[in-house]
Amino acid sequence: MPNAFGAVVRRSRLTMGCHTPRRFPYTTPPELRGAGGRLHQVVIVGAGPVGLAAAIDLAQHGIHCIVLDDNDVVSIGSRAICWSKRTLEIFDRLGVGERMLAKGVTWQVGRVYHRDQELYSFNLLPERGHKMPAFINLQQYYVEEYLVERAAELEGLIQLRWKNRFLGLELRDESVGVKVDTPDGSYRLETRWLLAADGARSAVRNALGLEFKGEEFEEKFLIADVRTATDYPSDRRFWFQPTFDPSESVLVHRQPDDVFRIDFQLGWDADVDAEREPARVSERVHHVLGREARFEVQWCSIYTFRCARLGRFVHGRVLFAGDSAHVVSPFGARGGNGGIQDVDNLCWKLALVAQGRAPRALLESYNLERVHGSDENIRHSRRTTRFMTPKSVAERQLRDATLALARDFPFARTLVNSGRLSRPCSLERFAGTVASGNGVAGPMAPGMPCTDAPVMFSGQRPGWLLETLGGDFTIVIFAVHAADAARRQAELRAGGLRLPLRVIVPAAAAVTAENMESVLCDVQGLAGERYGGGPGVTYLIRPDQHVAARFAIFDPAALAAAHASTIAWNN
Ligand SMILES: Cc1cc2nc3c(=O)[nH]c(=O)nc-3n(C[C@H](O)[C@H](O)[C@H](O)COP(=O)(O)OP(=O)(O)OC[C@H]3O[C@@H](n4cnc5c(N)ncnc54)[C@H](O)[C@@H]3O)c2cc1C
Repeated sequence: MPNAFGAVVRRSRLTMGCHTPRRFPYTTPPELRGAGGRLHQVVIVGAGPVGLAAAIDLAQHGIHCIVLDDNDVVSIGSRAICWSKRTLEIFDRLGVGERMLAKGVTWQVGRVYHRDQELYSFNLLPERGHKMPAFINLQQYYVEEYLVERAAELEGLIQLRWKNRFLGLELRDESVGVKVDTPDGSYRLETRWLLAADGARSAVRNALGLEFKGEEFEEKFLIADVRTATDYPSDRRFWFQPTFDPSESVLVHRQPDDVFRIDFQLGWDADVDAEREPARVSERVHHVLGREARFEVQWCSIYTFRCARLGRFVHGRVLFAGDSAHVVSPFGARGGNGGIQDVDNLCWKLALVAQGRAPRALLESYNLERVHGSDENIRHSRRTTRFMTPKSVAERQLRDATLALARDFPFARTLVNSGRLSRPCSLERFAGTVASGNGVAGPMAPGMPCTDAPVMFSGQRPGWLLETLGGDFTIVIFAVHAADAARRQAELRAGGLRLPLRVIVPAAAAVTAENMESVLCDVQGLAGERYGGGPGVTYLIRPDQHVAARFAIFDPAALAAAHASTIAWNN
């Protein structure tokens, strides 16, 4: 049988050693040392990617939080590897984007094969001028380690409590009582807000008796993470009915450290014990890497999956994010990426509410917006699963006919579904009555996540537009002259609006010392192009880098109204 790498693998060599997950020290919590008794702002259950990212985001807003995790180690084994552009942008806002990017394997091209023929390829980011790539592949344990390191930098605001297991809760009007178990015994915490980021089997969800409604899929998949040194490219490669292996499908991703993730679709009736046999796994890996290949299997497991979500993500003072709120299949990389988008959407709102600067109603917008995002992910995940695992003879015949046609006919290629990869969720339908930008051209309508563009700071330092947005509400104005910045700033202050201001000017505009702080030069003209940025066009950007409102002309009163209405969630 020909192998999957074709001519690419010459002779791979065996490399030894695998990543040893870091352990974090358990320390006896203050409550068991006679201290405690305080009312905490936020307690987060779960130090997975979602809980850790939430702690960092909240801390960046000045909110203290305690993170409880029942373990003392980052994620072991093979879980998320594909992190999307939007997630990287959020990680960048949290101060870890560049670290992830430096370690991760960058990719943007996916190739889809049927048997031994490439059907088509897709490019997830064909245009230039973005800081972050379409995707990186990075093992979940690295992502969590980097988040733990970032959390440590925010010491004083974040307490990470390892080997602290959430046991139960008591709901009160103004707080939540939390029972926690540790190696030294159990204790209680009192918190204003409890964030459940404790994964798919969420103990918080169970404690509240909440239904997690969805659909189980019987199809079994074998994951093998193998370490081998080859010059195999970083493109995503997906085979339907490969000629080199008896699997229904095979997916290959390159990860850092010369590790490859290989997913084999075994079928619903696979004999799990037989498939897990080391000799059987090695044989399959040889089918992909070639007979000559030498490799080390770092991780191997068989999984099935389900698509499910909670009815609501906000239950009084208990909030759900990540896998505790929703789960999908790994195809499409929507689980972890969706969870990080939850964090992005939730934390600024929770911070404003916790600080008494916004009404509790604002949290309902988190519920609505992220239930919408989760439904979008579940919809895509179900469609992919239906295509990959036809349920009846008729469905299979239709699927196989589509694959056969796709070899020669472009229309059939659009029906082939090997996983629609995670994209940022648009909140356009929630933008409501906030000004929709009459007269402003370009795709950046209210609700859209901001797109990036290269800019020049202070007239001399190259950077990116997204680096200047987020964290707080921000006003972006397109202007002809850099001198407009000071004038606009004064007008905003006179109108009582004290928000960060970015004034985007053409590359040729003269930037002087007095206005350089807020002025960004549109060096390649891409910001103007992407935001329909004629002179006077003004945007109000939310702390999660989504457009709250846009206007054809600068109008401080309209901006103030849009700001107030977004916070009050009275759309
Ligand atoms: C095979 C596979 C491949 C995947 N690939 C991708 C991918 O490429 N891209 C992607 O985006 N997603 C992917 N996912 C999904 C991704 O792994 C999850 O969506 C992600 O881990 C969810 O993060 P989380 O923080 O919500 O939950 P988790 O990562 O599950 O973290 C939950 C944390 O809570 C802790 N905890 C649990 N119970 C308690 C308790 N009682 N008390 C205290 N702590 C507790 C756990 O120890 C854990 O640390 C994949 C999943 C699988 C299984």
